[in-house]
Amino acid sequence: MKQKNKINFIYLIRRLKGHLPILLLGGISMFVYVICWPILAWLSGKLIPAIGQGNTKQVLTVIIQALIIFIIQKTAQYLQDSLLAKPALALSQDLRTTLFRKLQKTNILFIEKLSSGDIAYRLTEDVDRVGEVIYKTIQDTTPSIFQLLAVFGYMIFIDWNLSLATIILAPLIALLVSDFGGKVLKASEQSQNKISSLAGLLSEAIQGLPMVKAFAVEAWLQDDFDKQVQLHKDAKYKMLKLIALQHPIVGIIEIIGILSILTIGTYRIQTGGMSNEEFASYFTALVMLIDPISHLTTNYNELKQGQASLRRLNQITTNPQELLSSDTGIKPEKIQGKISFKNVFFSYDSDNNVLNNLNLDIDNGKIMALVGPSGAGKSTVFSLILKFIEPCNGSVFIDGYNLNKVNTNYLRRLIGIVPQKTFIFSGTIAEAIRFGRSTTKENIVNAAKIANAHNFIEELPDGYETFIEERGSNLSGGQLQRISIARALLGDPTILLLDEATSALDAESEESVQKGLQQAMHKRTVLVIAHRLSTIQKADKIAVIEKGRVCEVGNHEELFNRQGRYKDFCDKQFIKSF
Ligand code: ADP
Repeated sequence: MKQKNKINFIYLIRRLKGHLPILLLGGISMFVYVICWPILAWLSGKLIPAIGQGNTKQVLTVIIQALIIFIIQKTAQYLQDSLLAKPALALSQDLRTTLFRKLQKTNILFIEKLSSGDIAYRLTEDVDRVGEVIYKTIQDTTPSIFQLLAVFGYMIFIDWNLSLATIILAPLIALLVSDFGGKVLKASEQSQNKISSLAGLLSEAIQGLPMVKAFAVEAWLQDDFDKQVQLHKDAKYKMLKLIALQHPIVGIIEIIGILSILTIGTYRIQTGGMSNEEFASYFTALVMLIDPISHLTTNYNELKQGQASLRRLNQITTNPQELLSSDTGIKPEKIQGKISFKNVFFSYDSDNNVLNNLNLDIDNGKIMALVGPSGAGKSTVFSLILKFIEPCNGSVFIDGYNLNKVNTNYLRRLIGIVPQKTFIFSGTIAEAIRFGRSTTKENIVNAAKIANAHNFIEELPDGYETFIEERGSNLSGGQLQRISIARALLGDPTILLLDEATSALDAESEESVQKGLQQAMHKRTVLVIAHRLSTIQKADKIAVIEKGRVCEVGNHEELFNRQGRYKDFCDKQFIKSF
């Protein structure tokens, strides 16, 4: 089945349309460059007999003519290379940005399954490889093909009988090249797969290095890494051996061809079918075929390697895209923030229902705490509200609008989210709170004040311009959480989704974060996956979720006194607190 998101070379060539004028100028330069080859062969036909006769005047004249042609040819080659480099590079740039756009639109469930190192490798190395093929095709393969045609056309013009012998050898070379090409494609794909697993392992290793050190298992990781490196080396070596073998084989066929033509040519001169001068031109032209054939062989291998990379890139582009395009759907004028789940069923794998007829109403401006054992489906509820996923059955409503009908970007802008594990892109604190949105410094400071982050930020030597290092290593856990709260609050969201961190902070940080959260929740619809008693007690309502359905709803006192699932849960979770 043809997948519509697939990128292939035809798609890429079509994208060249926007560069027609520069391609035309490059094409003219290419024509001049190519046409110089048969002219040079013709001049050589005049030069060699003149040398034989010791005719200095004739030799000098031809040398000057050849020099002029060389200068014209090299100038044309410079123009061709420099002019065509621009569209070729634009095409690889276009490919990279298109892929990243597709990646951003890929359904989140599929993204989660991919290793970040592997994706990063594909988007850099594989794209580079495809880019290189595009560049070579435009700037090297095309002139080589034309050079081959022009020079061979000239050879037929001189003596078609002799050219027949050359034609017989051509399919043999083509067959060999294409057979090698197939093998190179397979070997290259294997080698690329190995290197991207290596990139995946590397990114995991960097993140997990503190744990590896803490458990003193560096030797195990090194061993794993060494094995992967070895696998990659073996795969790459297999490919390089194939390529290495191809050149001498094609070279031997070329030599056999040249020697046969020398023999047949001598016979043609003897029998009067060809003059010395013609044979000299013919032989020079024949030598001129070697270079483009060798370029075409190498480029064909690279094309095959590029195809392997393109296949790997298509494994990203053909992943399911987001459920609903972000630019369709309604954008209601005003949203109060009431959320309702009506008979919602959801399953990640179409076998087990993660949500099982879930019904839940969260009134606008109220705080609802979700409690329940791990794996009950609480995060899935968040994913449905954010439209990362869609109910298999039933519906989710916001102020009575079915989420299916609501514009995804519009919806997401109404929502602020504070995830359990703080993730912040490296950059300054102000940039982290802004998170790509256009806003004023004043709004950033206000959000930070509500999140109880302003004071500590101001105390830092560079204040809001303090650079947060990768993974926030220069700030404390509590500080990062407060920045994460400020980031969620920046757009003044109507709905706040909080996934409380399970890891304990020290008492002082805990108090600061709780103060930030409390201020953040004010006058918003809040849905919080709660792990702390203080949060649960502040909630207007608590929903106990078990096995994908709501089994109890009420406030803390009501539920606690009911002696039901909530009481059990509290007994298990917060025994000492009650
Ligand atoms: P909770 O937040 O209550 O711990 P989740 O909503 O995260 O529960 O998960 C509910 C169930 O769905 C779990 O059994 C979990 O393994 C499964 N699950 C969660 N996310 C995915 C996913 N992306 N793919 C497959 N299964 C998933």
